Amino acid sequence: MKKAELVFIPVAAAGHLIPQIEFAKRLLDRDDRFSVTVLVMQSPSFTSLAAAYAKSLAESNTPIRFINLPPPIHFRPSQEVHKSLEKFATEFADYHKASVKEAIVNHVVSNSNSAPLAGLVIDMFCTSMIDVGNELGVPSYLFFTCNAAYLSLSLYLPSRQDEVGREFEVFDSELVIPGYVNPVPSSGLPEVLLNKNGGYTTAVNHGRRFKETKGIIINSFEELESHAVKCLLNDFDHLPPVYTVGPLIDLKGESNKTDSNEILKWLDNQPDLSVVFLCFGSMGSFGEEQLKEIALGLEQSEHRFLWSIREPPPKNELEGPSDYKLDELLPAGLLERTKEIGMVCKWAPQKEILAHKSVGGFVSHCGWNSSLESLWFGVPIVTWPMYAEQQMNAFQMVKDLGVAVELRLDYRSMSGEVVLGDEIARAIKCVMEIDNEVRKKVREKSEQSRLAVKEGGSSFTAFQRLIDDICINLETN
Ligand code: UDP
Repeated sequence: MKKAELVFIPVAAAGHLIPQIEFAKRLLDRDDRFSVTVLVMQSPSFTSLAAAYAKSLAESNTPIRFINLPPPIHFRPSQEVHKSLEKFATEFADYHKASVKEAIVNHVVSNSNSAPLAGLVIDMFCTSMIDVGNELGVPSYLFFTCNAAYLSLSLYLPSRQDEVGREFEVFDSELVIPGYVNPVPSSGLPEVLLNKNGGYTTAVNHGRRFKETKGIIINSFEELESHAVKCLLNDFDHLPPVYTVGPLIDLKGESNKTDSNEILKWLDNQPDLSVVFLCFGSMGSFGEEQLKEIALGLEQSEHRFLWSIREPPPKNELEGPSDYKLDELLPAGLLERTKEIGMVCKWAPQKEILAHKSVGGFVSHCGWNSSLESLWFGVPIVTWPMYAEQQMNAFQMVKDLGVAVELRLDYRSMSGEVVLGDEIARAIKCVMEIDNEVRKKVREKSEQSRLAVKEGGSSFTAFQRLIDDICINLETN
């Protein structure tokens, strides 16, 4: 094979875009026959971080070519976003089919400077782009931003739907779900699987279409999810090849251009393993009452803390954090009382924080990127899932893998539940113990994750297999 072009179609949310770009960078580093174009959807709403990252990379001297798709001025979702984020994101992606095809035809297929198109790398919300690939006569490869266990669950949905014919219900009690070692209590299912506003149907439809791709790329590694990987190999008919190529972590921090000096300087002055870090992803925000309980819990735990706080987003669109005053959100006097032992910030340089030797524990929403980062840096998590598939990640990490301390497995940000300060303090004390079993397990996984991406490691080898398969598919297409 001489040269080959891949066109990436991510959704512009931080947790999706960042690992996909990281994957593209590693592909280009490994094999100079490839070139990559990323089509960027101009979302009116998705997190400003994703948009800022795409923009700053596009303006740098990256070999990745970025093409902005036309603004979605005629996009009319069938319902408001808060009824189902997944349905909204899927409709938003579907809306772009024509402009994606046009961009590929104009900038790649009929561009004499472009290498032959080897395929599309599509986001898990963009399965409708498989049609575009078919029309252009090229294969689609799925980039699955969640883990191998959740892929098993997604692939299981269509056959379950054919059998049962309805959404999951909280009264379903315990469920045996492929990919998970232990039966999953239905109370801990992600909101999308219970959603009657089209979220569940959207998930089933995506699960059906995943099998139409030529390969599935997962940001995970075999040593972490051996059960789920085995399940993917054995339990599904006609599944395209699966490549676990992770962890894909932007270790150079190019996706995080925040001013981190003050935070890192503060961490430099703290004893080793003394600080608990709290951060809830790009969209994890709390109401006033819950913020107060977290503050209480932190004080009660008597541990040093670094707490990243998001402002509650508006209900009608998916905006990222806008400008807000931390002292107005927090209980009066908290910042003054805790200034010796605590720091509160807005967007946090999470990877740099987790890498810092003073950080000993992480209260997290269990987004998959955050989970991989915590494992990579060997920092044990306290689970506080909020949205998307995070409840399943929390369940898997606590019950199946023993790499996290349970605070909640079934919290949902829309539920209005308030987790009490006492419980928060207890979980923090537990995760901060120096010699607990969870920390030992996390350290083991940390080593394994680093070996997996080194030459000869499982993810490195899977990556090569993927490259070889893309080349073979191009030549035989
Ligand atoms: N992140 C960060 N600072 C923050 C919040 C998030 O750097 O204050 C990064 C985090 O390191 C991770 C990504 O944003 O790489 C969030 O991805 P994840 O899958 O954990 O959660 P999501 O935001 O998609 O819910």
